[in-house]
Formats: sequence, structure tokens, C-alpha cells
Amino acid sequence: MPLLLERLFLTHLHSDHTTDLNDVITTRWVMSPVDSPLPVTGPPGTQGLVDRTLAMLTDDVGYRRAHHADLDWDPGCTVTEVLDGVAFEADGVRIVAAPTDHRPVEPTIAFRIHAPGATVVLAGDTVPCTSLDELASGADILVHTAIRKDLVEQVPAQRLRDILDYHSSVQQAAATAARAGVDTLMLTHYVPPLLPGQEDQWRALAAAEFSGRIELGDDLLKVSVG
Ligand SMILES: [Zn+2]
Ligand SMILES: [Zn+2]
Repeated sequence: MPLLLERLFLTHLHSDHTTDLNDVITTRWVMSPVDSPLPVTGPPGTQGLVDRTLAMLTDDVGYRRAHHADLDWDPGCTVTEVLDGVAFEADGVRIVAAPTDHRPVEPTIAFRIHAPGATVVLAGDTVPCTSLDELASGADILVHTAIRKDLVEQVPAQRLRDILDYHSSVQQAAATAARAGVDTLMLTHYVPPLLPGQEDQWRALAAAEFSGRIELGDDLLKVSVG
């Protein structure tokens, strides 16, 4: 529900991570009773992405303002760009960013969320790197994107196999979790898609490198900490 979002965080500007941004902006705008710019925090370059997204929406904004008599403002965002350091702090929650390695996509960042009673790290897309190890050290949960290299390697299409060199495999994500000493590894952003019945395969690949709790992070999954 975009109207209820307090802030949007982006780890990087790859299209699979930003393709719905325009709809979040639009839905929040048309549903808001008052002008309510969407706060967006992301790596350097986020302001440009937001500016171009708003420009792309120009036609739609015109249609909707012509149609809704009380909608007399344009959609907007307030952007905070961060590469390394504090990304957000309020109400007892502190979020720290650190660079990751997803080259040639750069800059890319991970977030460490410090909240009362829980610390969660969102790795985003990255290969194993020292800065992520340090950011994730001792966290309760590491949420990490992962790909099945054993499956992707077999696809007879170089364009798809190209993704192998800038993502972590399930085993690499699990090894990062082990080095960082987190309690729980949550895998997400499955490539190829995790098919029903394959859950144990994914868990087993991670368990070979990580002895903590392993969760498959489907959308809207809730887990408890402690
Ligand atoms: Zn990416
Ligand atoms: Zn991605």
C-alpha cells in the first residue's frame, strides 16, 4: 500500500529492482489526501533515476490532474543518496549503508537496520566482499539475493550465463552468513525462480556452508528474532 509507505530504500538501480518505482509514486500520489512526497534512499544516482521517472510520468500526471478536481499538486519524492554511513535515523531505528560489489553495476549498497531488539542486513545483489562481511557482522538476520549457479550454468544462452559473475550463488551467500556470524540467513531474489518442491535443494546448498537458521524469503514472509 504505497500510501502507507514511510520510506523506500534502493540497493542499486538495476531495472529488476526499480521497475515498479513509477507505480509506487503514482499510486501514493493519487491516494494521498495531501501533498506527500515519497522519501527515497539509495546510492548516488538515485536522484537522477527519480527525476527521469517523474519526467516519464508527465503525460499521466496531466491526465489525472485534469480528471480529479482536488488533486492540484504533482507527485514528488525527497531523495537521500548514500554510499557509506548513516542512511536513516529516527524513532530508535538506525540504518547504515555500505558499498557492495555488483560491478559493472556501481555504486551498489547494502543496508544494516538497527531496531530495538533486532538487527537485519539487506545485502542486495553482490558477490562476496569484505565491506558486506563487516556490515553483516553479528546481525540477527542477513537477507541475501542468491542464484543457483549449478542450474544457470546449464542454460544454453550466454546472455543468461553472464549473470553468474556478479551475483552470489546460494553457497556464496551462505558462506557470507557464516563469516559474518549471523543467526539467520534469508535467501531471496531466486534465479532461476524457486519452483515448488525445490525448497529442500536450496536449503541444502546453503546448509553446506552455514549452520544457522535458513529461511526462504518469499514476499510478505514474517520471521521472529531472538
Ligand atoms: Zn542487480
Ligand atoms: Zn537483481
